[in-house]
Amino acid sequence: MTLRSVVGIFAHPDDETVLAGGLIALLVQQHSRVHLVSATHGEGGEMGEPPVVTNRALLGATREMELRCAARTLGASLTVLDYVDPVIGPDEALYAFNADFDRLARQFAEIARQQQANLVLTHGADGEYGHPAHRLVHSAVLEGVRRMLPNVLVYSVAALVSSIEDRLWNPNEPAHFALDIRPWSETKLAAMECHVSQHALFKRRKQLTTVREALRTVESVRRQWPETHGESPNDDFARLLRTAGAWTP
Ligand SMILES: [Zn+2]
Repeated sequence: MTLRSVVGIFAHPDDETVLAGGLIALLVQQHSRVHLVSATHGEGGEMGEPPVVTNRALLGATREMELRCAARTLGASLTVLDYVDPVIGPDEALYAFNADFDRLARQFAEIARQQQANLVLTHGADGEYGHPAHRLVHSAVLEGVRRMLPNVLVYSVAALVSSIEDRLWNPNEPAHFALDIRPWSETKLAAMECHVSQHALFKRRKQLTTVREALRTVESVRRQWPETHGESPNDDFARLLRTAGAWTP
């Protein structure tokens, strides 16, 4: 097993858990060191119902604590960068954080280099449901790895599994692997419980009553680097996933 070190790079607190909580728990169980990066503190997001803070200025600090709880629960270490998450606009308009693209790409690659990462997990090219901050992180991670760490694998999460309906799938990025994460779902659920400010959001779209009902039990990935040229990936992560029961949708 040569995935000694894995870095997961995401835009906001909770992305790591919602998009990859089961995969992270699997990697930690298989003795990979996992380091998570959130580009922002998520200070532009939802304040909770009822609000976890009365003042938006406190939301970033609260969500960072929630993320620390989730990272600890998943067995990962954590870096939170200081990019500012813009507040959600009218009609739920979403925005990317402000960043110099080249600097961001270098910063992500530098963290992966410091961690001696064999694999980087990040957002998909479609930003899952089109979130511009997720798309920005995806592009910057790929650019940084291509330029500075060409031997490191990059996989994106929430790749399309067309047999399962889910608004989070990146619509233009078919999955190389899908995994039933139920063997690790109690860990993922415990990490979801950490993100208290987002519980109302987790439950709202399908009018669910509990966080457990919002748990997604299939996670999926697509290899982004090195390019696969239409072939099925056969790297260390692919082998780990197949051993864990993953299938190619
Ligand atoms: Zn996000």
